Amino acid sequence: MTRYVFITGGVVSSLGKGIASASLGALLQARGFSVRLRKLDPYLNVDPGTMSPYQHGEVYVTDDGAETDLDLGHYERFTGVPANRFDNATTGRIYSEVIAKERHGDYLGATVQVIPHITDAIKEAIVRGTAGLDFVLVEIGGTVGDIESLPFLEAIRQLGNELGPERAMFAHLTLVPYIPSAGELKTKPTQHSVKELLNVGIQPQMLLCRCDRPIPENERRKIALFCNVRAESVIAALDVDTIYAVPISYHAEGMDREVLRHFHLPADGEPDLSRWQDIVDAVRSPEGEVRIAVVGKYTNLLDSYKSLAEALAHGGIANRVKVHLDWVDSQIFEDGGAVHRLEECHGILVPGGFGERGTPGKIEAVRFAREKSVPFFGICFGMQMAVIEAARNLAGLRRASSTEFGPCDEPVVGLLTEWARGNEVERRMADGDMGGTMRLGAYPAVLSPGSLVSDLYGGATRIEERHRHRYEVNVTYRACLERTGLRFSGMSPDGVLPETIERPDHPWFVGVQYHPELKSKPFEPHPLYAAFIAAAVRQARLV
Ligand code: GLN
Repeated sequence: MTRYVFITGGVVSSLGKGIASASLGALLQARGFSVRLRKLDPYLNVDPGTMSPYQHGEVYVTDDGAETDLDLGHYERFTGVPANRFDNATTGRIYSEVIAKERHGDYLGATVQVIPHITDAIKEAIVRGTAGLDFVLVEIGGTVGDIESLPFLEAIRQLGNELGPERAMFAHLTLVPYIPSAGELKTKPTQHSVKELLNVGIQPQMLLCRCDRPIPENERRKIALFCNVRAESVIAALDVDTIYAVPISYHAEGMDREVLRHFHLPADGEPDLSRWQDIVDAVRSPEGEVRIAVVGKYTNLLDSYKSLAEALAHGGIANRVKVHLDWVDSQIFEDGGAVHRLEECHGILVPGGFGERGTPGKIEAVRFAREKSVPFFGICFGMQMAVIEAARNLAGLRRASSTEFGPCDEPVVGLLTEWARGNEVERRMADGDMGGTMRLGAYPAVLSPGSLVSDLYGGATRIEERHRHRYEVNVTYRACLERTGLRFSGMSPDGVLPETIERPDHPWFVGVQYHPELKSKPFEPHPLYAAFIAAAVRQARLV
């Protein structure tokens, strides 16, 4: 029997609903249940793929090539369950499906309306492909009271009713602020937020109360009384020093026990949280520290690089060191004088990115890493920058560039118009749609035996990693670039698309066309990130 837990948020955004949902998933898993997490996003974009990172943060790519909300990254990192395209639905997706059906004549004769057509489509999206699972956790984006989220709330209300309490539960995340002048925690915002939910017919059975200190028994009882919730189900969601301590903290507050109690499942035993305890111990007692410069464009918005930051932290866990990230805006390199900022770092990473702005600084950062033998990791755009750097500074192709920035004489990075997906060929036109048309999702790469990258994958010669790019290193320049000491160590199986590069004459210099950070987990750090941090540890001992 599949049970559904719906998680809504109130009072303000950014309370950590994604982490709360992911943590509940981890706790249920630790008790032996199978779980899947889903996210419903009430905005009109069909997916977040075309949104600026300033607007939306990172776009998380699934194996099956969907561009999704960054919370799906938390879900994967906490549960290890690979997300798929059905795990994230937006208002835009739901409406476009309903409108396409209307045009097709599927509703012939009917007036197509939000209720029941949109709400039915939302309900279908929630349950699609979940048969056989023990638990499905469904997070509703946004804050209760927003106009946009109404159809989603109506749909989960209906679904809750249809499934009944033995198969459905509502949990609501709120804020319990401490007011210093009064010296008290305030419960009123929580009461108001639950009233908003009641207005749309949803009575939550559990409240997750974000607060910066323990909730005194009195306040807990007050919240329970006013909000119609058992006092034991008023769970304090306390601030913690690392997100990987959240499952342990929620467990200590009784979250998993109360969810099981709601569903009349035995809750006497303890879940096995040793995995989380080990991670938290490694984070809290590092044996050293390394500094990594991340040279990018959106460095003032850390959410843009969520998976990257987590994967670097996982590399730290693997090496038992704290990874200090120095977010460097590449534009400060443009005068050539800011390179000294890199001198204090033990590793330099150029992450994924789009557009020409800030690229001269990224290329400078690659050059610095190459010339000064500092460990270098180029991700996607970062690998493309490394190739342009080698072409310009070593191969003598002064006009080498990417066609992403306009037509150029030496297109060492060019628009990808055709590539193989299994036995199919995908084609794109230069003036085609921007949404959902990149080379997206898991693709295989063939690694040269004996290369550094192959060694790091445990000697594997065939790997699969997730991609999100429209441009690609131009294979016709391969021989010319290899003469400069750059090794093309990984290629697409048809040998056309460079997937990894490395520099055998350098302590650690790797570029990958894919995003390995998307598959890194705290309990299973990605080998490339673990090795990059290990190289930084070696570097730290040198300086
Ligand atoms: N802008 C580059 C491309 O489209 C790189 C994309 C990325 O870094 N994800 O190929």
